[in-house]
Amino acid sequence: MILLIKMNNKDMLEWKKCNNCGFLQYKTHLRCLRCRFNEFSIIEASGQGKLLTFTILTAPPAEFRDHDSYALGLIEFENGIKAIGQITTQNNLKTGMKLKPVQKKICNNLDGKEVYTYVFEPIKKKID
Ligand SMILES: [Zn+2]
Repeated sequence: MILLIKMNNKDMLEWKKCNNCGFLQYKTHLRCLRCRFNEFSIIEASGQGKLLTFTILTAPPAEFRDHDSYALGLIEFENGIKAIGQITTQNNLKTGMKLKPVQKKICNNLDGKEVYTYVFEPIKKKID
């Protein structure tokens, strides 16, 4: 299951966990996609994120008119939640690397309002 980031959606890192079978799914579903049960617990992404795959967008949407390009990644957290989001850098990205979610202004929308959402920042390795 993949969660798409919506602009200004602060709870993008929350999913529903089925109380019957434990299946994880995005919050908009009313019934479990696996067993049809209708009671859920809300769970939040936890731990570090792992970069599963990424791409560099070189023709960003109109809201990102100030950027020539940006990186978009699919991240999986330690408890199974996956999210798609911008990555704070395009340099030295590698699948399997660890990232953390940070809240950040990503653009001004077409009405000129500032848009904040979660983006993913590589976790720097400690240098001994
Ligand atoms: Zn279920």
